[in-house]
Amino acid sequence: MFLDIHNHSQTFDANIKKVFNLDITVSTLGEDLEHFFGENESVSVGIHPWSVSEDSFFEQLEVLEYLAGDSRVKAIGEIGLDKLNGPDLKLQEEVFLKQIRVAEVVKKPIIVHCVKSFNELIAIKKVVRPKVPMVIHGFNRKVDLAKELTQKGFFLSFGRALMESDLVKEALRNISLDQVFFETDDDKALVVSEVYEMAADILKINIEELKDKIYQNYLELYL
Ligand SMILES: [Zn+2]
Repeated sequence: MFLDIHNHSQTFDANIKKVFNLDITVSTLGEDLEHFFGENESVSVGIHPWSVSEDSFFEQLEVLEYLAGDSRVKAIGEIGLDKLNGPDLKLQEEVFLKQIRVAEVVKKPIIVHCVKSFNELIAIKKVVRPKVPMVIHGFNRKVDLAKELTQKGFFLSFGRALMESDLVKEALRNISLDQVFFETDDDKALVVSEVYEMAADILKINIEELKDKIYQNYLELYL
């Protein structure tokens, strides 16, 4: 079975286990929560840093707390920090910390969105010491950072950047496969099997072996 650990597409494929991401935006407040899930059996739910509303984040957090325990919710995310978009970083941090606490209560892994804020992310993990795993989605940086993050216990999920960047390929080659996932995110032109094929090629391993390994990682994410 292929695993696509982070995506926003509402399509289904019998060969791919998909974890759909549901963002608790201000416009979803007051919506019927069942409608929110649709047909999805595996979802991640969180307040994306871009969606954090200064006026409404308490209501957004209430929705998250309400949904987090649902058996269809496999992870809390994508949540995190973004220096290029969204509200003030202080507010992003406050809401990120509150969502980490929710993940700890329900004992579910966290899907992290991090843009130009890796020092802050590392500092938060060091101080908070969450017991739940943290998966950084859409990893698109160099080998040094990949090594540092995996040594600090983060998991990395690779998508489009792995198809295009030699530096990202090198990063994958130099970290433990125990801490790796694959994803398509919001890229409608990408199928996760293509990412697996690329990774198998980079790592010079059999694709079936890779599928089993990544699926095993997924099962082990849950405490
Ligand atoms: Zn995403």
